[in-house]
Amino acid sequence: MATINSNFLKLKAGYLFPEIARRVREYSEKHPDLAARIIRCGIGDVTEPLPQAVVQAMHQAVDELAVRDSFRGYGPEQGYEFLRQAIVDHQYAGLGISADEVFISDGSKCDTGNILEIFGKGNVIAITDPVYPVYVDTNVMAGNTGEADASGAYAGLLYMECNASNGFVAAVPEERADIIYLCFPNNPTGAVASREQLEAWVNYAQAHGSIILFDAAYEAFIQDPEIPHSIYEIPGAREVAIEFRSFSKNGGFTGVRCASVVIPKGLVAKADDGSEVALHGLWSRRHSTKFNGASYPVQRGAEAVFSPEGKAQVQQLINHYMGNARLLREAALAAGLKIFGGINAPYVWVACPEGVSSWSMFDRMLGEAQVVITPGSGFGSAGEGYFRISAFNSRANVEEVCRRLQALLA
Ligand SMILES: *Cc1c(COP(=O)(O)O)cnc(C)c1O
Repeated sequence: MATINSNFLKLKAGYLFPEIARRVREYSEKHPDLAARIIRCGIGDVTEPLPQAVVQAMHQAVDELAVRDSFRGYGPEQGYEFLRQAIVDHQYAGLGISADEVFISDGSKCDTGNILEIFGKGNVIAITDPVYPVYVDTNVMAGNTGEADASGAYAGLLYMECNASNGFVAAVPEERADIIYLCFPNNPTGAVASREQLEAWVNYAQAHGSIILFDAAYEAFIQDPEIPHSIYEIPGAREVAIEFRSFSKNGGFTGVRCASVVIPKGLVAKADDGSEVALHGLWSRRHSTKFNGASYPVQRGAEAVFSPEGKAQVQQLINHYMGNARLLREAALAAGLKIFGGINAPYVWVACPEGVSSWSMFDRMLGEAQVVITPGSGFGSAGEGYFRISAFNSRANVEEVCRRLQALLA
């Protein structure tokens, strides 16, 4: 009989978002009169329509495909030159990144998971707690962990606790880590790392021969001019870091699908025979073998994010969501809650009232206010006692959530 990848059996059954969906469904069935009142601030999905510049570019691209003379079939697996170059010009200008170091894909979730294919076994993997669950589960699937314990922590991973006392920014560990996941601005905590904090990480990676996997999906939400948008703003980062970016949160592409990965050509890791091998070639080969490129209309749409109109429209979206974040922060504060994040990120990270667990708070918010939040413990055991409110919503919904939050805790 065929066998399975038994690593999948180590995965915890109740993945966060299905469990939230289950509780919301159950509540709606029990309280059909209140179901229509439910406002979802749980999953981090955008709500506002695509920027007009993007829509126009995609329409035009489809029209090109409708005509023999301008029709295109398979594109380059690594992405069209026009988009790779636009990303360099608009996101990495002056940082020493070239267009052929940028790889286009259909999403950062896939990229951050797939990247493990080019790394060997036995790496020490450092992951923050709380964390975007994709980093953990893809390592479990890849066989890089042992079993989970009662708290949900997997044997073999190096967890770096993020809490109020370190401002939800992990300090470099004492131990050696070979692969380090960092996400700034952070999902779920909304924390950002200062230049000095990122310098410490780059220095650490240089000293230990580690690779930093830097997820910058939310860089467009940074308001503070002192906060780096890219890890490559830190000297030496090109020798130690891979950066992931996505059009999902800035351009509203969660349903359109487009993202990029930067792998600088100088980035190396060790082969079994001890020799140093460039990661760029491995990822390029992987792309060519397993991927046939993001769709042409989508890449044209992504390019339009960088046009003057596109930039202005994206800025409006960011302003909208960050305005929501400010309202949510103010309402949570006024309700007497302790809050973090929400200043350079579209997530407000809130401490539950004393002695209340994350899931109790979830049930209370759903049951008494019909507001869906994300329990912090779903992002790791250090998230227990917190919940995340997403600013991705309409203004009317956010204002209503603010009113209900204050009424609930009055
Ligand atoms: C939303 C998000 C992404 C983007 O994922 P896509 O697959 O590109 O939509 C990446 N990382 C984090 C932490 C996110 O929250």
